[in-house]
Amino acid sequence: MQKTFSITNFGCRASQSEGASIHQELLESHAVESESAYDANVVVVNSCTITAEADRDVRQTIRRIASRNPNAQIIVTGCYAQRAPEELASLPQVRFVLGNSHKPLAAQLALNLLQDDFGAHGRGEILCSSIFLERDFRPASYVGSGGRTRAILKVQDGCNANCSFCIIPSVRGRSRSIEPEAAIAEVRELVARGYKEVVFSGIHLGTYGRDLRSKTSFYELICRALEVPGLERLRLSSIEPLEIIPELIDLIATHPRVAHHFHIPLQSGSARILRAMYRPYSPQYYFDLVSRIRARIPDAGLGADVMVGFPGETDADFSATYQLIEASPLTYLHVFPYSSRPGTVAAGLPNHVPEHVSRFRAKMLRNLIARKNETFRRNMIGSEIEVLTLEDGTALSSNFVPVLISDPVAVNEWVRVVVTGLHGERGLHASRMKTAHTPADPA
Ligand code: SF4
Repeated sequence: MQKTFSITNFGCRASQSEGASIHQELLESHAVESESAYDANVVVVNSCTITAEADRDVRQTIRRIASRNPNAQIIVTGCYAQRAPEELASLPQVRFVLGNSHKPLAAQLALNLLQDDFGAHGRGEILCSSIFLERDFRPASYVGSGGRTRAILKVQDGCNANCSFCIIPSVRGRSRSIEPEAAIAEVRELVARGYKEVVFSGIHLGTYGRDLRSKTSFYELICRALEVPGLERLRLSSIEPLEIIPELIDLIATHPRVAHHFHIPLQSGSARILRAMYRPYSPQYYFDLVSRIRARIPDAGLGADVMVGFPGETDADFSATYQLIEASPLTYLHVFPYSSRPGTVAAGLPNHVPEHVSRFRAKMLRNLIARKNETFRRNMIGSEIEVLTLEDGTALSSNFVPVLISDPVAVNEWVRVVVTGLHGERGLHASRMKTAHTPADPA
């Protein structure tokens, strides 16, 4: 019987994009995918290490795969593999640990294992260094395997900032961008393969191009991508506050094919905590920025990452964060309780906040944003919008709201709908109006 593989992904969009890339490389090499990790011969675990909880999830997953599938050979790669390869190498059935430095080898090693299991082994073999193999990952959709709807295109990796809490620069290295010509060629290929939405992602996306010999910028890359014939919608993932330039807001406001969606990390609404985090903007700057965006693009989806319980965060600091968010036009949040990461500056700071306090603060913010998000969605009731249907039976609006359409619709179609009500905690109900024009054709 032919041997099979499976991929289990963790982490951010950039990581998902890399996992999808490994997946695609294996399929193109005619490897056969299994139904699940529990019946595959080779399992690639693409890990994340952003928090202690993420580490725990990865370890638990590997142990579960090993106990339910005792014949599986496991390859672990990703950020956790780069940070602590020894920890992962000692887990059961781990055959290789590939740091991000060696991630481009993951598909080839999986193929080797599928062809020849290399016999019995003890500890996993570690391939990890501080020098990153410079081969860019090919993009692929991560929304369902074989999907043809949204493609995540990672155009940048690594980060030169040194936020005091963040492990990412040490596990992904310095900022590196793919050449604009290569990025545009990928956009063309994705369009040719039928993707209707391309999402530009990266670790520190706003710094795109600064490392290239012929200097360019993220804004220029976006403008070039929008010239690609047939690209129907471009979405941008997370961009740091200081990198949202006025031209970018104008472009998103006026171009019919750019999604009305911004994700702008805030982290804290306390000036003192932002300084301790080494974040280079003030709460007022952030507030003015999102207010300006709301004034210019009234329907924009506006999201943020917020960290609670950073060392030394007092009730007053948290209250400043709460008040800023309450007054802001933000529509959704990713709230993270602070998690001490070994080797970071913040890990050595005094006054760590007790876990139950962080959890309580996180809950307060989640309740707050749930109310704001409901108001945002309620204001959309009765409006006509164009949505893209996805593989999971929902559709996605330009401003990043999941939409459940009452009538049956095919996957990967633009559908014009009228919003009829709220759906669950994050979505909308809608009825189909007629086959939509694509956003490229606003006529
Ligand atoms: S900008 Fe800060 S939080 Fe984001 S990856 Fe870089 S160091 Fe981490």
